[in-house]
Formats: sequence, C-alpha cells, structure tokens
Amino acid sequence: MSEHERRRPVGRVKEVTSLSNPLVKDIKALALKKFRDQNNAFMAEGLKLVIDALDLGWEIRTLIFAKAGRGNPAVEKVAARTVAAGGDVLEVSEKVLSSITRRDNPQMVVGVFSQRLVPLKDIRPANRDVWVALDRVRDPGNLGTVIRTVDAVGAKGVILVGDATDPFSLEAVRATMGSIFAVPVARASAEAFLAWRKGFPGLVAGTHLKGAVDYRSVDFSGKPILLVMGNEQQGLPDDLAASCDRLLRIPQAGRADSLNLAVATGVMLFEIRRDALKLEASP
Ligand code: SAM
Repeated sequence: MSEHERRRPVGRVKEVTSLSNPLVKDIKALALKKFRDQNNAFMAEGLKLVIDALDLGWEIRTLIFAKAGRGNPAVEKVAARTVAAGGDVLEVSEKVLSSITRRDNPQMVVGVFSQRLVPLKDIRPANRDVWVALDRVRDPGNLGTVIRTVDAVGAKGVILVGDATDPFSLEAVRATMGSIFAVPVARASAEAFLAWRKGFPGLVAGTHLKGAVDYRSVDFSGKPILLVMGNEQQGLPDDLAASCDRLLRIPQAGRADSLNLAVATGVMLFEIRRDALKLEASP
C-alpha cells in the first residue's frame, strides 16, 4: 500500500447499516447520562461543530457520517483528521443516524468526543473576567443557551453549582450551538463553591426577585465579576444569596413573575459586558 493510500481515511471507514451493530448500540447509549459518565464521552451533531471541536483541540473518539457524505471533501477531511487522532470512522445509513440522534432529519455528521470539565480550583479570575454560576440548573435548553450566551459576550465560563443538568446531554449540547467546545464549564457542590467564592477577587453579583438594587445602577467595570443565577423553580437559596456582594433585580412590567433563567442571564451579561462589546467600525 502506498503512503497516500495508507493516509486516506476511506480504507479505515467501517460501514454500518444495522441498528443492532454493537458500535451503534454503544453510541446510542450515550443518550443516557449513566453511559456518558461511564465512558466520559458525549455526542455533538453537525459538520461545523465537529470541525470547530477538532480545531479547539477536543479529543474525538468516533466520527459517524451518513452515506450521503461519501465523497464530500469536507466530510472526508474531517474523517482523515479523526483517523489521524486515533479515532474510528463509521459510515452509516440514514436509519442508523436517525436512531443515534433520535431525529427524523439528522445532521450528516455526528462526533463522539471525550468530556472535558475544568476543576474549580483551577479557575483564578483576574482583570475583567466574567464567570457565571448557575445554581442547580434543571433545564438542558436553559443551560445550553447560557453557555452559548457566555460565549457570545466573551465571558470566561460557567460554574454549575449543586445538582445540575448534564452539560453533555444531547439537548444541552444542541442548545449551545457549538459553544460547548469554546466555553470552560466547572462543576461544584454548593459547599465547594462557597469556599471558592471567598477568594473571588472582584464583585459577586447575585440576581434575585427580592433584590433591592436595579442591575443598571451597578458599576461592573474594571474588575472580575461573578454573576450568580438561581434555580428555575426556587431561585437562589439563602446561603448562596448571602454570599453575594449585591443582590440585583431586573425591573419588570406586566404579569410575568420572573424572567426565564437564560433570558435573565443574557440581560445581565450584556449589561456587565456593555463596554467590552462593540460593533466593528463601519468602512
Ligand atoms: N420562582 C423563582 C424565584 O422565586 O426566584 C423564579 C426563578 S427565575 C425563573 C430563575 C432565575 O432567574 C432567578 O433565580 C434569578 O436568578 C433570575 N431572574 C429571573 N427574573 C429576574 C428578575 N426580574 N430580576 C433578577 N433576577 C431574575
């Protein structure tokens, strides 16, 4: 075999059409948190996402692509990168891809990656870093949307406090639209978070429906900010609320009691990052 042939991924591609194939069964099992945790792995859908993940240095274990992707130069390139990284490449039928992603019209490409979390002790905020702490976030769509928004405003990352939904579930990863690969995520118990918070060198800004301070009246400039957001049903518990330097409120009109968690986080982040975000100068 020539060097060229050896480097071509096509020869290393396994074709799979059966739903009972053990490789397919293992990948499908990643829909369950138990198996994601056991294997320290998760799935991400879409060619662009997989390319971004590889560019950002995430470890790919398996690339799965639909038959329709055969001959597509971008898919072949990603397949070659997967093989070069020591991963497997599976070419599967549309039926298999639908069952892996639980979607009728699945993306052409799915990647299985190793999970990556940042240890809380390694987070040492400085300068104007902005971190978001989410207390017991329940909804994977909210978590994914917050991760995407953190990415969009150029904040540093997300700390999941207490019993949180899994950032590596298919639904959460989908809602991040790829930002799961760009935004560091840490997990901590409430106790570990409260201990770490004591060393936080800037302003710890909690949000609370009983907050007495209008979020627009606060000077967020020139220091690290830790934005603390409450659980969807219960809001912030007393100990977390007491650990905040300020408890801020977003004024509301109308009949709604509160804002959706991800919306409230977005409103806060755009205010905190107001001075840092600029439209590019028009020509
Ligand atoms: N029933 C909950 C409560 O009593 O707090 C509602 C929680 S709300 C859906 C989720 C989180 O979003 C809140 O804990 C808070 O962090 C934030 N939030 C929502 N609306 C807010 C507002 N108007 N002002 C400040 N924070 C708000």
